[in-house]
Amino acid sequence: MNRLTDKVKAFLAQDPIPAFINGNWKESEFDYASEIENPANKDVLTKVCQCSANDVEDAINAADKAFLQWKLYTPMQRAEVLKKFADLCERDSEELAQLEALDVGKAINNARGFDVPFGIECIRYFSDLILKKDFEQQLEIEGINGKQVRIPYGVVGFIFPWNFPLTLCMWGIGPALAAGNTVVIKPAEITPLSTLYLGKLAQEAGIPEGVFNIVPGKGSVAGEVITTHPKIKCVSFTGSSAVGKHIGQNCGMHLKPAKLELGGKGGAVVFEDADIDHAAEGLAGAITLNTGQVCCTATRWIIQENVLEEFVEKVKENLQKTVIKPGMMEECEMGPVVCKKQQDSIIDYIQKGIKEGAELILGSDKVTENEGYYIPPTLLMGDQNNICFKEEIFGPVAYITSFKTEEDAIQQVNSLDYGLANSVWTQSAEKAQRVAMEMVSGNSWVNAHNVFAYGLPYGGVNGSGNGGGVNSIETLFDYTRGLTIA
Ligand code: NAD
Repeated sequence: MNRLTDKVKAFLAQDPIPAFINGNWKESEFDYASEIENPANKDVLTKVCQCSANDVEDAINAADKAFLQWKLYTPMQRAEVLKKFADLCERDSEELAQLEALDVGKAINNARGFDVPFGIECIRYFSDLILKKDFEQQLEIEGINGKQVRIPYGVVGFIFPWNFPLTLCMWGIGPALAAGNTVVIKPAEITPLSTLYLGKLAQEAGIPEGVFNIVPGKGSVAGEVITTHPKIKCVSFTGSSAVGKHIGQNCGMHLKPAKLELGGKGGAVVFEDADIDHAAEGLAGAITLNTGQVCCTATRWIIQENVLEEFVEKVKENLQKTVIKPGMMEECEMGPVVCKKQQDSIIDYIQKGIKEGAELILGSDKVTENEGYYIPPTLLMGDQNNICFKEEIFGPVAYITSFKTEEDAIQQVNSLDYGLANSVWTQSAEKAQRVAMEMVSGNSWVNAHNVFAYGLPYGGVNGSGNGGGVNSIETLFDYTRGLTIA
């Protein structure tokens, strides 16, 4: 088991960890803090204060005031502060990785190898981009000399889910701060630790008071204030489609833009001419990564009939080798799921799926008594009318169907309202392009699933979001508005 660093021990020893408002650590006016549990052993890690509506209002007012100063920073000055922040995140990358492993339950080596460095890279990517990007366009139309400039919105409110707290937070605040906005961040109730740790680093980096605020708390309290407050000029929400629709409505009522990154139910189409070893390995990895709690991952495996048996044998072999341990153990490949509620929900889906006629071909349909919230990789097979084909389960569970023709496969992929990410597995480049274009989603990956890089836009359509996406130059523009001067 990895030993906690002294900084992590000191951070967790605060009782409770306060909110970060206007550059200060502030206990909530609520006499209430929530316990943060370690899903690997059900121990309480620490307590975190829960913000009241007034606390959030304080944060918003501070961010609104700080905007007057932050917007006057030149891109170079903003980039300098943000790069210092990224350097400090890198210095404390082991602390951030440990907090992710403890709080979410994820494998520490995944946090060290992906969540933390990829998050830090985001801050650097957008800090570089603001130096290169032209935010002003000259317009000469019918004798009028004009220009359009892109300017920051002001205060941007962020609401995040629990599965990739650190990376998603960086994906959001990186472009927003680089573009000159100030931010109020509400992390998920159950995994706020790494986000709160960022507050310490923001303070040390010299991000001016009020530019960066963190308000842990309930969605129905802190989250509602963020989506309805008139001083929040843009809302960025990552989370479930159900809550996303509610937030979209709130923002619509208050006429503020909402960037919505929502749920998914990714399809992976494996053709008979695919490299089956590679597909079996890649898709096994897709449901064990973060214990399957990944919005864009492949959870519907749509396999051409004549390679179904071979694929199933190979993917089972891969999954049976998965090392399931507490996330803090060096050898862990897959940790527990995030909490009891999530464990119960996943098992409930598996049982309902079986009741509706699916065959359980690997894994379990029962909660096994264990010191943590573990679920083994689970495979179900059946037809596309099953609840486990249609609904997001958000655990290490895949549902397998078969197909005869390309049209049949595409129909299956596109039969749901979700549209976040799908993949096609084939050795024919032409077929890969054709199918990639036909699958309805923001991302169509070829012979791989879960492909991310800065510069490659990532986002969903239909029930998975309103298409703005993250990680690219468009994201930077999404956090600005146009101002035409003529
Ligand atoms: P959730 O929708 O339940 O909660 C997300 C956040 O919304 C939390 O911080 C929660 O407190 C807050 N919230 C809840 N009710 C609210 C309200 N009325 N007003 C304002 N805020 C409110 O999602 P979750 O269970 O935390 O996360 C899992 C979901 O997130 C899955 O559906 C997953 O697919 C999705 N997700 C999407 C992406 C993406 O990039 N598209 C990334 C990660 C996760």
